[in-house]
Amino acid sequence: MNTVTQESTRQWQAADAQHFLHPFTDHAGLARKGARIITRADNIYLWDSEGNKILDAMSGLWCVNVGYGQQPLIDAATRQMKELPFYNTFFQTSHPPAIELAELLAQVTPPQFQHVFFTGSGSEGNDTIVRMVRRYWDIKGEPARKVIISRFNGYHGSTMAGSSLSGMKGMHDQGGVIPDITHIEQPHWFEHGRPQNLSREDFGLIAAGWLETKILEVGPERVAAFIGEPVQGAGGVMVPPSTYWPEIQRICDKYGILLVSDEVICGFGRTGHWFGCETMDVKPDLMTIAKGITSGYVPLGGVMVGERVARALIDEGGEFNHGFTYSGHPVACAVALANIRLIQQLDLVRHVREDIGPYLAQRFAELADHPLVGEVQSCGMMGAVQLVKDKAASTLFEPDLEVGMLCRAHCFGNGLIMRAVGDRMIVAPPLVMTRAQVDEMMALIRRCLDLTLAELHQRSWL
Ligand SMILES: *Cc1c(COP(=O)(O)O)cnc(C)c1O
Repeated sequence: MNTVTQESTRQWQAADAQHFLHPFTDHAGLARKGARIITRADNIYLWDSEGNKILDAMSGLWCVNVGYGQQPLIDAATRQMKELPFYNTFFQTSHPPAIELAELLAQVTPPQFQHVFFTGSGSEGNDTIVRMVRRYWDIKGEPARKVIISRFNGYHGSTMAGSSLSGMKGMHDQGGVIPDITHIEQPHWFEHGRPQNLSREDFGLIAAGWLETKILEVGPERVAAFIGEPVQGAGGVMVPPSTYWPEIQRICDKYGILLVSDEVICGFGRTGHWFGCETMDVKPDLMTIAKGITSGYVPLGGVMVGERVARALIDEGGEFNHGFTYSGHPVACAVALANIRLIQQLDLVRHVREDIGPYLAQRFAELADHPLVGEVQSCGMMGAVQLVKDKAASTLFEPDLEVGMLCRAHCFGNGLIMRAVGDRMIVAPPLVMTRAQVDEMMALIRRCLDLTLAELHQRSWL
């Protein structure tokens, strides 16, 4: 660390605090501390402006599936910028990268998906879904079907429709929600099933049954769709019981309701299949895609439209009055093409399913012996550790203590990016990880758990 770097770090922090409003950030708090300035990245590592090397166990923000510094993506962007940096796809025009990507997406997604609608982000994808499912039911002569059922603690983005679909009170309290969106409880076995001595499988059926209760409460003739993440990401890597999703599918089918899988995190290999719905063994009508589609190198999102909805839109719907300037942005599409081809070339989906995912699961399971750990879950390259106050009784810490944040601070201090959702510590590392890198990550996680435990004793919170 030299003085020049120190100086520029302070300058950046000052300018950042003065001019930059960050997403999901308490600015007064950030200004006091100063932002951490990330300057460079390679493979699964980041470097900050002080030269510290950090293992990025969150893949940026759940998106850098192929890791940083992948030359094919860089080359694809450069080539496309020279060739055609922008053109729209509105007025009966198209361009090769968007066409080729649409074709490739039809190949890698489940067979019911032959069409894609491009957006700039996952939030825009979910906004598109709200408009599209309501349009679908209008076309089908059932305009009363407007209500979309979602789940508490689900995350579907931060635009008006995205935040309304999301089940997060802190978001709803700021700016309100759009009408005709309602929520059911998440399938959180540790919170709801375990205290009642239910097996995970039995609890999964009960939790899915909450959807049917809600449908009957709203009136089946008013329900348009159900949306959920196969594995809830931002909510804390909540892996549902194996019985949950098939039962959700059965209930949607029973009432003719559209099933939407938000694949923004689970898509593009993260769960060990191309899409999370394949891991959960369900057949959605629509899928939201973003994040891993470009490994985050440039922004891109979209909606995969299943034949049921696509046929209505195309054959009966006329014009769908919806779209974004950057729908099918050529540079984003070129990068997505290179990214998906790289996933195929490196056989990353199988790597996650058969090698590195099971290895992560095995190493995560070993954390269960730690005195602070009440529950461990993983699915592909996502993992969660529930911190508890009393392991034997599975009692949780008082939320005000913010034990998760305390643990996260130790992670940051020790060269590891791990996220805290309440007292659940979560990871979603790049899919390209090797076993040695998983070992390196696990050693850091264990050290941070030990440091957290020591601090809790020191504060007499244990
Ligand atoms: C991140 C995320 C979104 C929102 O995507 P943005 O690109 O941030 O708008 C939607 N759904 C899920 C499941 C996400 O994780």
